[in-house]
Amino acid sequence: MDLTLPADLRTIAQKLALAGEECYLVGGALRDRLMAIPAHDYDLATTAKPAKVVEIFEKVIPTGIKHGTVTIIMPGGQYEITTLRADGAYKDGRRPEAVNFISKIEDDLARRDFTINAIAYKLPSGPLCDPFGGQPDLKAQLIRTVGQAEERFKEDALRILRAARFMAKLGFEIVPETYKAMQKLAPLTAGLSKERTAQEFCLVLTAPQATKALNLFKKIGLIELLWPELTAISAWEECLNGLAGLPLERTLRLGHLFSYLPQEPKSLAERLVLPAKERNHLIALWHILRAAPPQGIATEREFIAQNYSLIPDYLALFRGPESLRTLAERYQSEPLYNDKNLAIKSNDLMELCALKAGPALGELRRYLLEKVWENPDLNEREALSVLAKNWAQGITDES
Ligand code: ATP
Ligand code: MG
Repeated sequence: MDLTLPADLRTIAQKLALAGEECYLVGGALRDRLMAIPAHDYDLATTAKPAKVVEIFEKVIPTGIKHGTVTIIMPGGQYEITTLRADGAYKDGRRPEAVNFISKIEDDLARRDFTINAIAYKLPSGPLCDPFGGQPDLKAQLIRTVGQAEERFKEDALRILRAARFMAKLGFEIVPETYKAMQKLAPLTAGLSKERTAQEFCLVLTAPQATKALNLFKKIGLIELLWPELTAISAWEECLNGLAGLPLERTLRLGHLFSYLPQEPKSLAERLVLPAKERNHLIALWHILRAAPPQGIATEREFIAQNYSLIPDYLALFRGPESLRTLAERYQSEPLYNDKNLAIKSNDLMELCALKAGPALGELRRYLLEKVWENPDLNEREALSVLAKNWAQGITDES
């Protein structure tokens, strides 16, 4: 079987073999390679205990040594390697506290979520170990829990969201037993941390079949339960149709979703644990998408100048009867709308005019930009210096 794997994996397996240990490729990367799609994040499993892994490899990071995970740094990249383990008892649907290290790969595969994720490939050259029928399910494009579905979701309710994630990512169907258990046990997801649910939500949102999984979330009551702000979207179908046409880019897709919300999307942004910068961008975008679009050259210019960094997303997400072609053209053809393209640096302005960073500097930059919009020839250092010095002395056209 030719899985075309990175050369580093062979090296890692050989080093472990010399120490009498086994090494397997597991998880999503193996699943993806079996489907002949490009893989990222090669997860490895080994019989070696974490301390031994640390000893064998020169460059390692003890990522999650308590759970048996070490990151090995190799010439071609980084690889997470986890000691074979059988998870102990789950408490309240959370990760087990105790970890039992074991020596049989089959037992490690048994703790994994879905059959398509519970296959192992013995490195460096096989064979495959597939005790739960992962390969036939991959062929038939089915998502099925390893073992009894209800039991597995009770152990960890995140798996309910993960099933939807793989549906969105791979376009697979969920088998009836697994689906019924998801429906029945959906309320258990209320006990998950917002960090975990937010991560799955964003993975779903940026997957090729996002709409399929979002509809599933809605159908089994997860939207109401986990992201209740989204129940305020009245044009759900239209919103999802629009989503399907967008690039798989998180901020853009969130911007689209948010633009259907009647209220400022503050609490949803918080629920999704977005970084402050992305959250502010999205809230500002929400405001301009919901306002009347600018009309006429003067207001368009003003609008671009005020919202410069939001304009690409604004243009990509704007829905309305009016065409924004002129705005797009103006944005693209008049680079001076980007305040960064002013031919003089803030530092130089501060020195020239004995200014400190603050509102006055902003005012001066704005004054210079407006001059440059009137007459683009003025955008060179010398001319701007003269204008700036005059401005600082109170000499302007208006005065
Ligand atoms: P992706 O390509 O989206 O990263 P993945 O299958 O690699 O998919 P990860 O979240 O990276 O998903 O997890 C790696 C592997 O660990 C999974 O394939 C699965 O075998 C196992 N796993 C992860 N989370 C769970 C869980 N909550 N319950 C059981 N097994 C899990
Ligand atoms: Mg992965």
